Amino acid sequence: MTARILDGNKIRTEIMSELEAEIRALKAAGVTPGLAAVLVGDNPASQIYVRNKVKTCQSLGLHSEKIELPASTTTQELLKLVDQLNRHEEVDGILIQLPLPPSVDTQAVLEAVNPAKDVDGLHPFNMGCLLSGRAGLVPCTPAGVMEILRRSQIELAGAQAVVIGRSNLVGKPLALLLLREHATVTIAHSKTRQLAALARQANILVAAMGRPAWVTAEFIKPGATVIDVGINRLTTAEEIRRIYHDPAEPLQQLEAKGALLLGDVQPEDAREKAGAFTPVPGGVGPLTIAMLMVNTVRAAQRRRGARAARL
Ligand code: NAP
Repeated sequence: MTARILDGNKIRTEIMSELEAEIRALKAAGVTPGLAAVLVGDNPASQIYVRNKVKTCQSLGLHSEKIELPASTTTQELLKLVDQLNRHEEVDGILIQLPLPPSVDTQAVLEAVNPAKDVDGLHPFNMGCLLSGRAGLVPCTPAGVMEILRRSQIELAGAQAVVIGRSNLVGKPLALLLLREHATVTIAHSKTRQLAALARQANILVAAMGRPAWVTAEFIKPGATVIDVGINRLTTAEEIRRIYHDPAEPLQQLEAKGALLLGDVQPEDAREKAGAFTPVPGGVGPLTIAMLMVNTVRAAQRRRGARAARL
């Protein structure tokens, strides 16, 4: 069997073009949705993520602000900034790029964000909405996974879903979203026993663990849909030889680029055994920023849409 590849870039393009129409309508009513991205410290990966988020805002014609602060910024200073952004009329979405420096009380900062502007969906109010089935802002990566499943016509009602990973950012919200769509959901984690046997029962298997190629053929039920959320960077030929059955092409990529991106699923095994799977790169990854844009537009519609309609 050769699995169907669920193309995240194609789905991202669809979502972005639908969003452009909504943004035009909002602008015609005098509202330009705005996102403020807060970056603390000089983590290179965070800098790239924030740059890409701001660039995407610009390409859609959204208002965006990038606030860069030194790693020495205190919790109090961040709370003050969040308070200002909460009251800033042009800002519909506040994004606190994680991780914050260890000296900062991350939870206090996330909880200070006005839930109506919490476009990362990490405020306990929005998490509570998700748990109780109320409309709220949903974390971007899980929301992106749901878009992939929906737009690829993967049957969810009654399906057995196993989500490996229980983080607040990915695993837990995704499990709740799958449950909302009537899947029978099991959440697995590092203490789960007989993980491969459990995973093998899944019609929909999600790997969100941060362990390169951990999910191998013995985890995959033939024909299952496999969603690989993991993003891992391989930098040595030794790792590549250990992981891939046929390492020739990945080794060429390593030589050309100096690193290779790999998910939590062994890609050759997924291609062989799954019915459909998301590749890395080009699967779940492209959806995360797209869903951040969707959340920013939704936040603007909810907060300012009623008033815009009256203009
Ligand atoms: P995280 O906070 O580190 O959580 C990892 C989860 O995986 C934990 O619940 C952990 O269990 C579980 N886990 C780790 N090793 C395991 C094992 N051997 N067996 C079973 N469960 C195991 O990570 P995260 O933020 O959820 O991210 C997960 C992955 O997704 C990472 O690779 C990250 O880079 C990627 N990611 C991608 C995107 C995207 O846009 N595509 C966005 C966010 C994250 P315990 O709770 O028991 O420790």
